[in-house]
Order: sequence, then C-alpha cells, then structure tokens
Amino acid sequence: MEEATQTSTTCQWDTTQLSVERVSVAKLPTEYGEFKIAGYRARESGEEFVAIFKGEIERETPTLARIHSQCLTGDVFGSLKCDCGPQLHQAMQMIEAEGRGAIVYQMQEGRGIGIINKIRAYALQDGGADTVEANERLGLAVDLREYRQCAEILFDLGLCHVRIISNNPLKLRAMEEAGLQVVERVAIEVPHTEAAMHYMRTKKEKLGHLLEKIK
Ligand SMILES: [Zn+2]
Repeated sequence: MEEATQTSTTCQWDTTQLSVERVSVAKLPTEYGEFKIAGYRARESGEEFVAIFKGEIERETPTLARIHSQCLTGDVFGSLKCDCGPQLHQAMQMIEAEGRGAIVYQMQEGRGIGIINKIRAYALQDGGADTVEANERLGLAVDLREYRQCAEILFDLGLCHVRIISNNPLKLRAMEEAGLQVVERVAIEVPHTEAAMHYMRTKKEKLGHLLEKIK
C-alpha cells in the first residue's frame, strides 16, 4: 500500500452533466461474493460500459475502486500470456473482503486496439517481439484507452475518495485529472506463470507499471 496525494476537496461534478448514463442495475451473485452490476451508455457515442459494485458507498469514505481493462484472452479463456483474469478476480475478492467498492470494466480490448489487432500482435510476439514492439510494428498506438468516462461512472456510483487497485500510474493520474480524489494506490500482484513473465517485465520496463515482484 502506498500513499498518494491526500486532499480534502470533494468531487465537483454535476451528475446531470456526465457523458455517460446509467441504464440499468441488477444483482450479480458471483463465486467471489454478492455484487451488483450496472450498465452504462455514453450519451454521444452509445459506447457501452459495465460496472460491478457492492456495499454502502459514500463520497467521503475512501473506497476501493478498479478500472479493469477488458482482456478477452485473459478474463475469459484463462490465457497465461498476461495476468488480467487473476487480477480481476483478486480485485473482486478484495472488494468482497472490504464489504464495499467498485470495478469499472472498460470494454476496450487490448489497450484499445481491438481483439483482431491483439491477435495480430500476439502473432508477432510468437516471432519474438514484445507487447510494445508488436503494437508499434502494426502501426498501433501502445495505449489508446480513455479513462474519463470510467471516472464518471465511479462518481455516478457515489465514489469520490478512491483507493485505486492498480499498478498502472497512468490510470491513477487519469482518475485524478478527471476529478476523483485518489487517496491511495492499492498494489495488486497476482502469482503468474513463466509464460507471463516477459509480458510483465515489459509492462514494468516500458509502460512504467509498479510491479515490485518483477525483477
Ligand atoms: Zn490480459
């Protein structure tokens, strides 16, 4: 656990002015605990978002939150090329243990490049490129994700003082720039296989992820 900037200002957003709207909320019992699931839609683009959350959420209470970027291969197929699936499930367990928190599931596959391009990048990685080089060779930006709407969803769910479960400093900065009060970064490091080792090292060395256990 690390201290981030601490400030007492509350979030100053008008919920009627958000670029996303909550369409529906339902219960979602999972093997990690009882959650609720909310569906959001961007007012202009129609892009869809999903959040799961639980517990009494109050703006002034520092609350666990995660922006989880969709990873079809890791989240659904149990790919060993990355640690996305175990991170998602560990974050759900952390929120369950705490009794409150929220995860925004950002449906932008492969850091925004889409699943087909991700598979093309994996093919290049089969030939020896790392995750950053592969994207560059395909002429794709390394990270196309936009976090503003994820921050708005957390705000709409009632959060303001957030304890972000992430190793990605860009996400923390993005949450702060969007107007949330990031009071803490909560580290998340899951056990991973040798197959994911190269990917993790690249995330640490080239993308600045804060991974203490990766040497
Ligand atoms: Zn992944």
